[in-house]
Amino acid sequence: MSLISLDKQNRILVLSMNNPPVNSLGFALRSALVECLQQAFSDPGVDAIVLTGSVKAFSAGADISEFAKPQASAEPNLLTVIDLIEHSPKPVIAAVQGACLGGGFELALGCHYRIASAQASFALPEIKLGLIPGAGGTQKLPRLIDFEYAFNFMLRGEPISAAQLFKVGGVDLIAQSELLQAGVSYAEQLIAQKAPLKRIRDLKVNYPNYQAYLEFAKNTVKTVEPYYPAPQALIRALLAACSDSFAEGMQCERRLFLELMQTSQSKAMRYAFFAQRACSKIEDVPSNTPVRQIAEIGVVGAGTMGGGIAMNFLQAGIPVRLLDTTQEALDKGISIIRKNYESSLKKGKLTSADLDKRMALLTPSIKMEDLATSDMVIEAVFEDMGVKEQVFKKLDQILKPGAILASNTSTLDVNKIASFTNRASDVIGTHFFSPANVMKLLEVVRGEHTSKEVLATVMQLSKVIKKTAVVSGVCDGFIGNRMIEHYIRSSVILVEQGASPEQVDKALEAWGMIMGPFRMSDLAGNDIGWAIRKRRYVEKPNVIYSKLADAICEAGRFGQKTGAGWYRYASGSRKPLADPQVDEIISSYRKVHGIVAQKFTMQQIIERTIYSLINEGARILEEGFAARASDIDVVYLTGYGFPLHRGGPMKYADEVGLFKVMQSMQEIFQQTQDPFWRPAQLIKTCVKEGTLLSLYSAHPASNG
Ligand code: NAD
Repeated sequence: MSLISLDKQNRILVLSMNNPPVNSLGFALRSALVECLQQAFSDPGVDAIVLTGSVKAFSAGADISEFAKPQASAEPNLLTVIDLIEHSPKPVIAAVQGACLGGGFELALGCHYRIASAQASFALPEIKLGLIPGAGGTQKLPRLIDFEYAFNFMLRGEPISAAQLFKVGGVDLIAQSELLQAGVSYAEQLIAQKAPLKRIRDLKVNYPNYQAYLEFAKNTVKTVEPYYPAPQALIRALLAACSDSFAEGMQCERRLFLELMQTSQSKAMRYAFFAQRACSKIEDVPSNTPVRQIAEIGVVGAGTMGGGIAMNFLQAGIPVRLLDTTQEALDKGISIIRKNYESSLKKGKLTSADLDKRMALLTPSIKMEDLATSDMVIEAVFEDMGVKEQVFKKLDQILKPGAILASNTSTLDVNKIASFTNRASDVIGTHFFSPANVMKLLEVVRGEHTSKEVLATVMQLSKVIKKTAVVSGVCDGFIGNRMIEHYIRSSVILVEQGASPEQVDKALEAWGMIMGPFRMSDLAGNDIGWAIRKRRYVEKPNVIYSKLADAICEAGRFGQKTGAGWYRYASGSRKPLADPQVDEIISSYRKVHGIVAQKFTMQQIIERTIYSLINEGARILEEGFAARASDIDVVYLTGYGFPLHRGGPMKYADEVGLFKVMQSMQEIFQQTQDPFWRPAQLIKTCVKEGTLLSLYSAHPASNG
């Protein structure tokens, strides 16, 4: 099929880009565009050109899989195509429906006029990849529309509707009839009126106060500059748009764009973009695997997780039956859901009609038999194998054939849970993160017998409820918690050996983690880790734990919920305050154990904590519990507050250099004699073979 289809309607030529799925502007499409445009320019039977895309997308912009390849800049590059359109002797009208993003929007800005369907959406999202628009967007948009609006639009990178863009003058017309017909009529009208060839480049930015405004903007984004240099670059490009000629502004934009392309931050953000796309692919579960219809969900347990899980489905318009053992527990769960929605209502994020609609989809019950009609049941009862056994045995008796049985367990063996039923192939783990209605991550735990159909169904369902699903095999803690355990364990050892909780938290937060390990433990509840450790002491006697964390718990300091943990908290406040009592617990612990406090640098703190994630992540990969290194990074970016500009622990390992990481691990092993710090075999193999850890895939052919 041709990349551009041509349709001549009287003296108007319609060029439709035809590069599914989203008309990304790769080399082949750009070349085809140039060829068709040149023919149209020299065709005396053509008065004007209407450039359009598909219903789904005018164009979603650059083909970012070309980014690092020579095709990205090969001529004709996007700037050349746009330049050709701008200098066309005949009007070129962009007729936009669907997505008009990035380079696609810049292409439309190169046209002389723009008409859009009401459903079109526009964005310059480059900032989300650590970049700025690189094909004239920063120079043209502020010339065309309100300066401040243009700046904020590019700074946020979020899409706006055709109506919003029309309101600020970014499109000339919203089509009232079928888009192409409206585009052709509009072109005929322009020809009849002998309308000028309007080129945005010829306009001037109309914003006298630009210097003061941009100075203010510069100060506002200063705090994020070390992590995200793109906003400052955007400001510099806008300054050029205001103060320099168009040609100089374009040069400035290009220089900044190319500089940003080379930053580790943008590289990490682009890596994360691809990682998110890749994680939905499962090697042996092809995209045409049949899926089951899920029209009704059952949730067992109306506690912290059950309520949040239910909300995801209500939001997606899927009816939920929520079950608990007592009316009291059920009422409590339902009232928390309602309160959550009411708070969204107060913030104007939800209408009262939506609230009513969602609550009407929720059917509470204390009778397990009521779940008989559910297509999938998610269990979120106490984390106790005995209770899970009871629930799954009962579900097995009640549920209809083909229903999916999911467990939200965070630590228990999903294979064992499946063995309580006579339909292990229908059992799967769906590990939501707290708060379950907010957190994006969903670990989908594939049991030994989970069928491909069930896995494909749950992966598809995760998209419906807008979660980022990553598949994990059945191992203790799955991907995320298995790694975090060593991160916390290492953090506590650091404090035992001489650091303070504040020092460790501050070092990691300055490095980019949203929350340091001790603040995080206080938030999650120190008792939860304590219960897990007690089990570990028996099951894994060789793993070295500092008992300092137990001493904190023994003092009743479970974290925020008890007003004290590694920090103290004023009543009703979440702000951690240093607590002399914690210092006392730590120093008496050191005294009893004969530990002489050492000093740790920020670098040492980062190595002892972040490298523990890298080592355990590599072990998870070599043991086959995650399919790709990038899946692990997605887990950390979406579920654990890992900084996006570092790309995830596996990507960060490559950024530092795997050889150096391995050397540091060996040094830490020498210092601590903790066998954990022996580098994982996969790390040694990657170092030996000179390959990147972040590109590791159990199935290299299907990667990316
Ligand atoms: P919770 O104690 O808040 O809620 C559990 C609910 O289950 C209670 O309302 C209880 O009455 C109900 N319940 C107990 N036995 C039942 C039964 N037989 N039938 C029906 N209802 C029953 O616990 P939670 O924090 O929501 O955790 C639930 C599950 O989710 C656990 O497996 C836990 O490991 C997992 N999980 C928790 C978190 C978290 O941060 N809290 C995160 C991920 C996963």
